[in-house]
Amino acid sequence: MKTDLSSGEWQTESSISLPKVSVVVPIYNEVESLPALIEAIATSLHQKALRYEIICVDDGSQDGSALLLKRLAHSRRDLKAVLLRRNYGQTAAMAAGFNHAQGVVIVTLDGDLQNDPADIPQLIAKLEEGYDLVSGWRQSRQDATLTRLIPSKLANWLISWVTGVKLHDYGCSLKAYRSELIQDMRLYGELHRFLPALAFIEGANITELPVRHHPRQYGQSKYGLGRTFRVLMDLLTIAFIKTFLTRPMHVFGLFGLISMVVGTLLGLYLTFLKLGLGESIGNRPLLILTVVLLIAGVQLFSFGLLAELSMRTYHESQGRPIYRVREVIAPGSQS
Ligand code: UDP
Ligand code: MG
Repeated sequence: MKTDLSSGEWQTESSISLPKVSVVVPIYNEVESLPALIEAIATSLHQKALRYEIICVDDGSQDGSALLLKRLAHSRRDLKAVLLRRNYGQTAAMAAGFNHAQGVVIVTLDGDLQNDPADIPQLIAKLEEGYDLVSGWRQSRQDATLTRLIPSKLANWLISWVTGVKLHDYGCSLKAYRSELIQDMRLYGELHRFLPALAFIEGANITELPVRHHPRQYGQSKYGLGRTFRVLMDLLTIAFIKTFLTRPMHVFGLFGLISMVVGTLLGLYLTFLKLGLGESIGNRPLLILTVVLLIAGVQLFSFGLLAELSMRTYHESQGRPIYRVREVIAPGSQS
């Protein structure tokens, strides 16, 4: 059920001690940035008098980030450190952070100070206007042009087109979510950048907001051009999920059926030529086409049936309903 962020309704007896905002930061070899980062997040949220927690997830760093986080978490009340056993990648680190977050709002950002924690309050303010997800848009992005900016422009255009969620900057980690939205989603691969698209599939209201971006001060970027390929593969997965999640048979069954019908008609025509008119059909390309169409038709059809089965398993094994409720207004309830 939707929580009204602005009315203070989330401040019920049982939730009074819980933080309102959970800031989730994946950390992989960012030891130099950490102290300034945590200070900047705390300052930004203190200014707005928001109850918050910072959740830093160490993704198997080898540069002492984990040790430093552990020390900081012992000395600060607003910091929770989640240390992963090895390097799993940014998406997994974020998912771990989500699982430990208690706030009704979750904010994510990078641990390298490229995103500016001072932007967090305005993202939350936007969320309070009634959105489920607010995505940052790095209008003047400070990264290499050839390896980062150009592939990113193409990728954003492509992702917007395929998913139907038009955003300028999918890659921006600085985003704010209502946590109930996050709890509904499962993350795999490098899917964190597609969270807006996944959220849209779950029926979320999404918007974007220009945010600042700074050049990396310490350490190195963990990614290069190779990420473009992985992002493209993930995009295919998303497109697939979006189309086939509930009724795969509608798509595969249709193509299978068309293929089988055309194949059968051609087969009948060839049979007529052979038996009726006594013509030789053995050397005709049409015969090959007929056979291919028939086989492809059966394959598509049975694939559709199998896909139906696995979709059912997918939904039921996770207890996922095929719909999402935004709000239920019971008779006599106050709001
Ligand atoms: N990161 C992570 N695990 C990884 C790679 C990266 O947790 O395997 C974190 C990294 O510490 C940073 C964020 O993900 O906080 C984004 O990484 P990076 O800044 O290298 O990406 P870029 O900003 O260059 O796209
Ligand atoms: Mg970065």
